[in-house]
Amino acid sequence: MYISKRVNSIKPSPTLAIDAKAKALKQQSIDIVNFGVGEPDFNTPVNIKEAAILAINENFTKYCPVSGTLEIKNAIINKLKRDNGIAYSPEEIIVSNGAKHSLYNLFQSIIDDGDEVIILAPYWVSYPDMVILAGGKPVIIQTNDKINFKVTPAAIEKTLTAKTKAIIVNSPSNPTGVTYTGEELKAIAQVCVKHKILIISDDIYEKLVYDNFKFTSIAEVSPQAKEFIVVVNGVSKAYSMTGWRIGYAAGPKNIIAAMTKVQSQSTSNASSISIKAATEALNGTQECVESMRDKFEKRRNFIVERLNALEGVVCIKPEGAFYVFPNIKVFLGKTFNGKIINTDIELADYLLDTAKIAVVPGSAFGAEGHIRLSYAVSIENIKTGIDRLEEACCSKC
Ligand code: PMP
Ligand code: GLU
Repeated sequence: MYISKRVNSIKPSPTLAIDAKAKALKQQSIDIVNFGVGEPDFNTPVNIKEAAILAINENFTKYCPVSGTLEIKNAIINKLKRDNGIAYSPEEIIVSNGAKHSLYNLFQSIIDDGDEVIILAPYWVSYPDMVILAGGKPVIIQTNDKINFKVTPAAIEKTLTAKTKAIIVNSPSNPTGVTYTGEELKAIAQVCVKHKILIISDDIYEKLVYDNFKFTSIAEVSPQAKEFIVVVNGVSKAYSMTGWRIGYAAGPKNIIAAMTKVQSQSTSNASSISIKAATEALNGTQECVESMRDKFEKRRNFIVERLNALEGVVCIKPEGAFYVFPNIKVFLGKTFNGKIINTDIELADYLLDTAKIAVVPGSAFGAEGHIRLSYAVSIENIKTGIDRLEEACCSKC
């Protein structure tokens, strides 16, 4: 009773739900290896924490402008110039309570009832539901591991209708880690600009790329397309600041103004203290980013090798993010502990109950027959977790 049809049409975030379940089991002293949530396991760097403490001590604790202080906007503008070579003005920037909130504001600002938003599967769990909540229709383009989980411009063009409003590009990708090259992005941008489709570029994993892969934002490969692009980014992943809740968007003034209006009627400004901390993250030393990236790269190498050593499991070695997305179809239809496991959802349940490892089923990302493992856990835990996976799936059938 009382709940709107709109809210009844979406589901809770499955990644957060699995993390909550894993953490609850941990609290009962059950030894869980949590590959579930996408959250760096490092502490927030000291210089960033000190900036927040200073903000409190200096009483920077009042409301500030809805879309963020000029100071953090300048830090973002400098970052976008320095790292991506794109020039923005303060009116083209909004700071929100996480990149998720920027995306939410954006969908509320651009979608009319029935508008279509193209989403590339496997996709981050929240995109379709946020589009639905805004009254839009997610239109999914399916990819698979045989094509390296990448979409072609031709596939995008074929999917366009008179109702297509936007497309979300997330590179490096959650959940596959697959990352597009500048050339690939340029070709995608050309199709979108030709049809005047808004490109939402979710660059949150920008800093986490491996093997000297050069990250490119779609906004930088196509400067003439700037009016068709909204870049979404944040400090959660690069600086291990998930709990601080700071994300931002950069895009055309009218879209940023609309997002600011939505935010002014919901959360107002993001936390003033977190804004100071994020400003330091963006302006201060970037050594911490490289040190975390380096650790993630070693973990990626280790987990990919271990997974591919399991008979029948196929795991692409991704260029970025901190996820692997192995194809585990080899386990489906088999009997483990006297019970047939038919789907990735049943496999994830079995792994949590029996092997005490938390993973997210591929179905949550629109790709059955896979599981997502976040390697934002120590090498020791990765080793224990994959040993358990092997024991539960390779010796019990
Ligand atoms: N986009 C993607 C692809 C993500 O994986 C996440 C992770 N939470 C976000 C956006 C949002 O991050 P946050 O809200 O913590 O900035
Ligand atoms: N993006 C992270 C993940 O996919 C955090 C959880 C969430 O916001 O969904 O696990």
